[in-house]
Amino acid sequence: MMNNYFHYKNEALHAEQVPLADIAEKFGTPCYVYSRAALTDGMNQFKDALQGKEHLICYAVKANSNLAILNVFARMGAGFDIVSGGELKRVLAAGGDARKVVFSGVGKTIAEMRMALDANILCFNVESSAELDRLNEVAGSMGKVAAISLRVNPDVDAKTHPYISTGLKQNKFGVAYTEAIALYRQARDMKNLHITGMDCHIGSQLTETSPFIAAIEKVLVLVEALAVEGIHLEHLDLGGGLGIRYDDETPPAIADYVAAILSGLRGRTEKLILEPGRVLVGNAGVLLTKVEYLKHGEEKNFAIVDAAMNDLMRPALYDAYHEIFPVSREKNAIQTYEIVGPICETGDFIGRARELSIAPQSLLAVLSAGAYGMSMSSNYNTRGRAAEVMVDGSEVHLVRERETVEQLFAGEKIISSVL
Ligand SMILES: *Cc1c(COP(=O)(O)O)cnc(C)c1O
Repeated sequence: MMNNYFHYKNEALHAEQVPLADIAEKFGTPCYVYSRAALTDGMNQFKDALQGKEHLICYAVKANSNLAILNVFARMGAGFDIVSGGELKRVLAAGGDARKVVFSGVGKTIAEMRMALDANILCFNVESSAELDRLNEVAGSMGKVAAISLRVNPDVDAKTHPYISTGLKQNKFGVAYTEAIALYRQARDMKNLHITGMDCHIGSQLTETSPFIAAIEKVLVLVEALAVEGIHLEHLDLGGGLGIRYDDETPPAIADYVAAILSGLRGRTEKLILEPGRVLVGNAGVLLTKVEYLKHGEEKNFAIVDAAMNDLMRPALYDAYHEIFPVSREKNAIQTYEIVGPICETGDFIGRARELSIAPQSLLAVLSAGAYGMSMSSNYNTRGRAAEVMVDGSEVHLVRERETVEQLFAGEKIISSVL
């Protein structure tokens, strides 16, 4: 979506005060471009909406894990929601505070648990009975006590794409709602675990508040049942999942989402943790790409661009829609194009049936690409990953160099003994 940070000025698309054409010229394409002001504005909206309520915003690192982005949020006092040991290392390298880190995910390894315990993270969001056992053992072997919350699965329909819905009974995430109390009792009796909270995360790209409210209601029933047993919680973690506008969606504003959550909490005083990802970075980034060829097929016109599904997988994976705009408004004939990459897969498309006035060498901006873009990228077809740039007012900073082909096969070896 076009916004205050990505906008036309004199027929030229800008990121804040910088023409995107200048960035393409200097750093090449494909290239991700982030707006620092968009990042800080989103975080400030959360802070403002949560004034007066004890809280911690744990940015979900997997949405976009570039160190420069993590650093912007760390400086604003944010915490982080991680799903791997690798993400923990990124957070620490970016200047994040381990005491503000929560660790989610269904498959934590022993090595990851050790790393997180060594770093002294705030809380493990535990997703199964077997994980409780493992964490208790690992913490015991280190002479430590692990702070935990259980991620409960409230069995509510997030009404989003099935691949990014996580709060239904049939999903792999969280512990079954009906087993949660028994598991809390189990955790209470484990010497090297300390119960500090309850967690739930029901899915991503939610465009209504009602599923969040339904989840809170179910969480609160459990919180009250635990209190009866003498188990009192310090925090409630309500996950992330707030959607953004890609096309014509109408998600609630951050302030309205937070207000709905606060009213759903009905005055409960536990510290509130939220884990927003997409909403903080999605519309803070665009993917810049160049038209290599125009190809007029029998049925369709193709604009073959230098970005592909390895750079931005969302269209191929979820049939996701991203707006695509020319970087400079040109006077070519308007035609309808399939915007496709060079990868050898029919699923390699960025946009379908787009009316555009373009020519070979035209630059295009794929909007709303800041979340689950670079972080889901791959090297398929031996394509080095795109460069990443952060714009701050009229300044441009390269925050990740374009990957070279040599880097891609640096760890590979030819077996010289083979005849
Ligand atoms: C992915 C994820 C998030 C962030 O989801 P968004 O939709 O990007 O806000 C938060 N918490 C957990 C546990 C996640 O897996």
